[in-house]
Amino acid sequence: MKPLQELTKQNIWKLTPYSCARDEFKGRAASVFLDANENPYNANFNRYPDPLQEELKARLAEVKGVPAGRIFLGNGSDEAIDLVYRIFCEPRQDNVVAIAPTYGMYGVCADINDIEYRPVELNADFSLDADRLLAAVDAHTKVIWICSPNNPTGNALDRKAIERVLTEFQGIVVVDEAYSDFNDARPFRLDLDRFPNLIVLNTFSKLWASAAIRLGMAFASEEIIALFNKVKYPYNINALTQQQAMKMLADLQQVQYWRATLLREREQLLPAIAELPICKAVYPTDANFFLARMTDADSIYHYLIDRGIVVRNRSRVQLCGNCLRITIGTPQENNALLGALRQYRS
Ligand code: PMP
Repeated sequence: MKPLQELTKQNIWKLTPYSCARDEFKGRAASVFLDANENPYNANFNRYPDPLQEELKARLAEVKGVPAGRIFLGNGSDEAIDLVYRIFCEPRQDNVVAIAPTYGMYGVCADINDIEYRPVELNADFSLDADRLLAAVDAHTKVIWICSPNNPTGNALDRKAIERVLTEFQGIVVVDEAYSDFNDARPFRLDLDRFPNLIVLNTFSKLWASAAIRLGMAFASEEIIALFNKVKYPYNINALTQQQAMKMLADLQQVQYWRATLLREREQLLPAIAELPICKAVYPTDANFFLARMTDADSIYHYLIDRGIVVRNRSRVQLCGNCLRITIGTPQENNALLGALRQYRS
């Protein structure tokens, strides 16, 4: 890895971050807070929340097996994706390389930040060609985006191929593991010691059933996390979100139950879809969704909409012609989908 200072935008490296009232008094006992211009009358939320979310990170450290100092929390993982650009990429000068197809926000955030985005196609079976990915790198490439299990294809990418990218690329490698809760492979967040250039993304929006609270995680070296903390808005995670996340983290059994149920449903739904005459292929998945290649994705998509069932039409995404991306729902929802598809007539 190149020295972190060389990879970081110079204005960010030199930045004096905003120092918030709660940061300054920290560590001392106090009961009279006249430092933050808040209203002293409490209707539950009169005080600013903890800017570094220490209680929540301490609990996450236990659950995720990553020390609290290596955790950044964002307003969804989307905040962490945007911050990667704002920290490392100089507009109109640097570029990033990403697998394709993949999650759309890597490209949208590149556009917003005026950074060249270099998509590199996966193989036809959606596996990763590390050589092709690395061949797209040049002297101005700061970041490589990898998503595993990948959205929209659903498959986990080969660990050895990802490790090669981490070892051979001298810049930052982001491995988005939003869906890693749904497979049993060793998550990359446990290998931060081996890869100083690694940033791993996780989210509360998928298995943790908390998309509405907007809470995402980035795991990285303490040095990289310090850069995230410098650039983020001072109180980026609101108090309601922190409280609700603590609640979700208190009932791990519930989460395991959801996981087992969804995986069981996935096991039943995939072959049932695959044997429909209107389905040409169902692709292997390691996530809570799967990609199905249909005879006529547009028409089937609209047919389902007319019956109140919404899936994602990915047919205009590269390598995904005529593909629908289908999330695993409750048993009732999956049956409704299957019943509707069985009645489809072209
Ligand atoms: N990464 C991937 C791969 C995703 O599919 C999504 C959401 N669909 C996100 C990140 C964003 O998650 P969040 O809700 O935490 O912003």
